[in-house]
Amino acid sequence: MSGTTSSRSAVVVGAGIGGLTAALALSRTGWQVTVLERAPELGEVGAGLSIWPRAWRILTDLGVADRLVDGTRPAIQAGLRRPDGRWLAKVRADAAAHTPVMVHRARLHEALVGALAARDGVEVRTGVTVSGLADLDGIDPGGPADLVVAADGIRSRIRNELHQREDVRHAGYTAYRGVTAQPVPGEASSTGGETWGTGVRFGYVPLVDGRTYWFATANRPAGETGGDHHADVTALVGHWHEPIPQLLAATPPSAVIRGDICDLRLPLKRFDHGRVVLLGDAAHATTPNLGQGACAAIEDAAVLAAQLAGHARIESALVAYDRIRRPATQRLVRASRLVGVLGQLQNGAAVTARDAALACVGAVAGLLAR
Ligand SMILES: Cc1cc2nc3c(=O)[nH]c(=O)nc-3n(C[C@H](O)[C@H](O)[C@H](O)COP(=O)(O)OP(=O)(O)OC[C@H]3O[C@@H](n4cnc5c(N)ncnc54)[C@H](O)[C@@H]3O)c2cc1C
Repeated sequence: MSGTTSSRSAVVVGAGIGGLTAALALSRTGWQVTVLERAPELGEVGAGLSIWPRAWRILTDLGVADRLVDGTRPAIQAGLRRPDGRWLAKVRADAAAHTPVMVHRARLHEALVGALAARDGVEVRTGVTVSGLADLDGIDPGGPADLVVAADGIRSRIRNELHQREDVRHAGYTAYRGVTAQPVPGEASSTGGETWGTGVRFGYVPLVDGRTYWFATANRPAGETGGDHHADVTALVGHWHEPIPQLLAATPPSAVIRGDICDLRLPLKRFDHGRVVLLGDAAHATTPNLGQGACAAIEDAAVLAAQLAGHARIESALVAYDRIRRPATQRLVRASRLVGVLGQLQNGAAVTARDAALACVGAVAGLLAR
């Protein structure tokens, strides 16, 4: 390992939101960083992303938030509804400290790439697939990097090499996602939240750019990804309350994407392995029911950089990172999984009981808020 902080070098595998944030946070604390990405070009597809306050503060400190939002965000009426439109629980989502900032995933990715491009000492190499840790030995003519950050996503090859297993679990449902082509006036821009039916959910929320992001989930087997996604969603929820039909009509069919929902089957016993550390989905991929996977990756990056800055030995910093981030992220994976189980209930009696319980909780919360 090389000596002073200013001469330390890191290889980050994966240029997703986690890897790019880690590269930025490390660079800002004096590291030389090489990012390796298998895709031929940097970029992200996808739809909306909720960035919760802690992660937003980190993006603000890193100079990324300013690239995404200017001005204030309007307040919206959010909550949970039934397919006929009856509210089960309402929250007034003021644009304050407790609500997420809704951005387009591609815009966040671009903002991170832009912030990294403005820094010296960072190199991003695309079209490089890392099959395992041995591939990294020849990456830098100066010798092996002091630190390897595995941010290579849910199917992380580095995690599988270190833990000798493939831990990805299919959650039993699929998610469709879309963004309207233009801002949709009326209820679609002043409300948000989720609607829970029987084995099917729909959620929507305005993005900071005025368009509306929506998603739908349905119980489906793994690997069933073909077909006309827009038509599938319309068949599932096109008859639900407004503005759902309006949002579907405002979304070009080609803009609807679909993917199996998965998480990590078993919690990992550690995120640190000597000078190698797991970050983001590679460490703790979660189902998206709480909308916090990318936020957790952003927080990982900030904690990692802070611990490395505060410890003389890299290994000690990685142990400290593991102690801070593993329990928090594994709680998130478990909580999100539970929300998914409740949201995807398929049995009519169980759905009725769930909705009655949610309405009670909503009424109590409403009274307390008043
Ligand atoms: C439907 C859905 C909705 C979601 N909504 C939200 C939300 O609202 N808010 C939120 O916070 N999170 C959300 N998430 C979670 C979020 O998308 C992920 O947690 C986040 O993208 C993880 O980022 P990452 O950088 O760790 O991994 P990834 O985004 O998977 O990035 C990994 C990168 O590594 C590269 N790579 C992989 N293997 C290799 C290799 N062998 N060599 C080189 N490069 C490699 C990949 O090409 C990729 O660029 C959602 C997820 C889903 C599925």
